[in-house]
Parts: sequence; C-alpha cells; structure tokens
Amino acid sequence: MTSNGKTALITGGGRGIGLAIGKRLANEGYDIAVGDIHDESDVKQALNGLRDLGAEVLYCRADVTDAAARAEMLAAVKRNFGRLNVLVNNAGIAPRVRADILEAAEQSFEEVMRVNLQGPYFLTQAVANWMIEQRRAADEFEGCIINIGSISAVVASPSRGEYCISKAGVSMATKLWAARLGEFGIPVYEIRPGIIATDMTSKVRDKYDKLIAEGLLVQSRWGQPDDVGKAAAMLARGDIAYATGQVVSVDGGLTLQRL
Ligand code: NDP
Repeated sequence: MTSNGKTALITGGGRGIGLAIGKRLANEGYDIAVGDIHDESDVKQALNGLRDLGAEVLYCRADVTDAAARAEMLAAVKRNFGRLNVLVNNAGIAPRVRADILEAAEQSFEEVMRVNLQGPYFLTQAVANWMIEQRRAADEFEGCIINIGSISAVVASPSRGEYCISKAGVSMATKLWAARLGEFGIPVYEIRPGIIATDMTSKVRDKYDKLIAEGLLVQSRWGQPDDVGKAAAMLARGDIAYATGQVVSVDGGLTLQRL
C-alpha cells in the first residue's frame, strides 16, 4: 500500500481491537504510531505485521494515565512523522475483579476511570491543540478523533459499574470534543463495540458463548477485532465526515430493542 501521507496514533494498539484498527489504517496508507503499555519486545510481532502492510511504524511505550508519558508519546510522533491526522483512543481495561456494586472497591473505580476516561480525555486535549495548530498552518489539513467506547455506556452491568460509568463518560467526551472542534473541521466519533473476541473477554468466554447461543444478539456470533477495525477505517477515510459526534455501534444488534 502506498502512503497517503497521513499518520494515525492508536493507544493500546499492540493487540486486540487496537491492532486490528492499526492493520486497517495501514491498509489505507497511514503511517502508524502504536502506543501501548508493554515493552516493545512484547509487541514486536504486531509491529512487524503493520510494517509488512507497508506502513512506517513507530512504537511509543506509554501509559495513558501518565501525563508525562502522554506528552513524550506526542513529542515522539512529532519528531518521527511531523504530523498527526488520526487519534484513536482505544486503550482500556476491564476491572481487575468483577464485583457487585454493593461491594466493589473504590480503588478499582479510580483505576478504571483513569485508564478509560481521564487519560484519553487529556490525551485528546493535547492532540486537539496540535491538530488546531496543523489546521491553522495548512487549510488542507485533515484530522479526526475516534474514541472506542462500549455498549457498557448504555447497558448496565452491576458487576462492573466502574467500567460502565467510564464508558458513559467516553460518550460524553466524544460529544464535548466534537462540539469544540467543529469550527476547526475536526470530526470526533465514538465506535461502540459489543462483545468482541480479544484477551479482554477471554475470561468470560463461556458466559458469552451461552448468552449468544440463547439469542442475545441479532447477528449470532462473537464480534471480531476486525469488525471494529473496518468501522475505524470508514471513519478515518471520512466516509461519514458530516456526522461528527455520532456513535457507530458495532455490536451485532445487542442494543437493538426487540419485543
Ligand atoms: P485488550 O486488553 O485486548 O487490549 C488493550 C490494550 O491496551 C492492551 O495491550 C493493554 O495492555 C493496553 N493498555 C491497558 N492499559 C493501558 C494504559 N494505561 N496505557 C496504555 N495502554 C494500555 O482489549 P480490547 O482490544 O478488547 O479492548 C480495546 C478497547 O475496546 C478498550 O477500550 C475496551 O474497553 C473496548 N471494548 C472492548 C470490547 C471487547 O469485547 N473486547 C467491547 C467493548 C469495548 P494490558 O495487556 O497490560 O492490559
């Protein structure tokens, strides 16, 4: 694939949904900056896979909850590529322990909120300011921001309340940034995945296998990371550029109300 001259930064891009998004964007001709919390050696295979698709790839080891690490990650993207066109806020965690909200620990609430909401919110702030600068420097600059939310923004799971609240916050963050960045021509979207087969859901595979077999979904299969990757590619291409602030649900019909 020949380069399209644009760069995408994907947090948590070393595996799972983030890696699938990276592959789709590499296929579109993007150069890819992968941010993740792991050592580079742990994600080497993933990075080489992206390079095999023709992308120039930069790895930034960065914890999204760490302000200094976020700043260093953006500085590295600037040094390496000199531009940033797409930010995908994908890094996220489930609670370490699923616990009834009658008992769940405050510490878990804080951890999940910091990773899923606070870190991405302030990364977006920094990227938004850089994108505004790029836009002011060149009218033809094209940028967008994609937040990976979850059906948990609207489906209540009392055994992981902190996750649901964090994703509901991501939804509002999408609206806020979309509203603020409209004047600069920078759309902001949310992708809202349902049940996707990744390491995150591997611990609850049996539970979801059963629910899917019992008819939970309209489209009766696990979602794959690439289902989300394709949605991200559509947004990054600008296929629905007149839809800033909107949610693209990739959930096999889980949130479709039926009677
Ligand atoms: P994975 O756990 O498979 O991958 C997420 C990656 O992000 C991992 O490499 C993880 O590292 C990394 N990460 C975790 N914390 C941080 C941090 N503080 N800073 C930087 N990177 C970090 O998750 P998925 O691919 O399944 O999920 C990706 C996104 O999609 C998440 O936001 C998740 O909430 C969302 N989502 C997932 C669904 C699913 O069914 N899988 C459904 C709906 C939404 P580590 O290995 O150490 O955790």
